[in-house]
Amino acid sequence: MTGLAQFAAQLLAGEIEVVDLTSPLHAGTPILQLPPQWGQTQPFQLEEISRYDDRGPAWYWNNIRTGEHTGTHLDAPNHWVTGKDAEDVAQIPPGRLIGPAVVIDKVREATADPDYLLDVEDLEEWQAQHGELPAAGWLLFRTGWSSRGDDPASFANADENGAHTPGVTPAAAAYLAKTGLLGFGVETVGTDAGQAFGFSPAFPCHEAVLGAGKYGLTQLRNLDRLPVTGAVVIAAPLPIVNGSGSPARVLALVAR
Ligand code: MN
Repeated sequence: MTGLAQFAAQLLAGEIEVVDLTSPLHAGTPILQLPPQWGQTQPFQLEEISRYDDRGPAWYWNNIRTGEHTGTHLDAPNHWVTGKDAEDVAQIPPGRLIGPAVVIDKVREATADPDYLLDVEDLEEWQAQHGELPAAGWLLFRTGWSSRGDDPASFANADENGAHTPGVTPAAAAYLAKTGLLGFGVETVGTDAGQAFGFSPAFPCHEAVLGAGKYGLTQLRNLDRLPVTGAVVIAAPLPIVNGSGSPARVLALVAR
């Protein structure tokens, strides 16, 4: 049996499980809200064209309206000014949409402190235990934040000073940018912390990671079902020409 035939047989036998890391897309899917002086992304909307009725007797279909950065989505390098001459979302080579994934678990820390920031020493400690971050792979930041994903207010966790959600320090962002990773994936609305507008630089993960030609993945779920190492992730954004990102179906393959 060839490797691929064996893979297909293992999928069928349940020896390889497919774990869906995607949040459902609907009008209530949490979206990022920026301060009012800036342009705003739109929530996901379905607009019915026909539903087995006089507009189309045998068929049901919808138009959709959505921001590129709505729900579980991929940030392309050109989303940030530091990556403006790099790939748009349609230009990402398909081979870079599949890769190994490892998980850093900071649920305890992010539960105790919603503003928790992953730092360089966390990345070094993780690697001392589990080996180097995977070349052409994903680092997934598990915080437990997806448990708030059906409640936009709790997901944003905002007060008069803005959102309070976990992220990375500027030093950790710069560190990630120098690795061979494909990118960085999170459970929150974006790859930067809720307070990252006030960091120096602002939004350091976007600045460093996208600026290095890497990708972001957001609003992931079910990271608790992944092993620390050994999963393979398929992150499939739509090939929106000139797009800065796209909602994506993100699947993990896990050996059982
Ligand atoms: Mn985004």
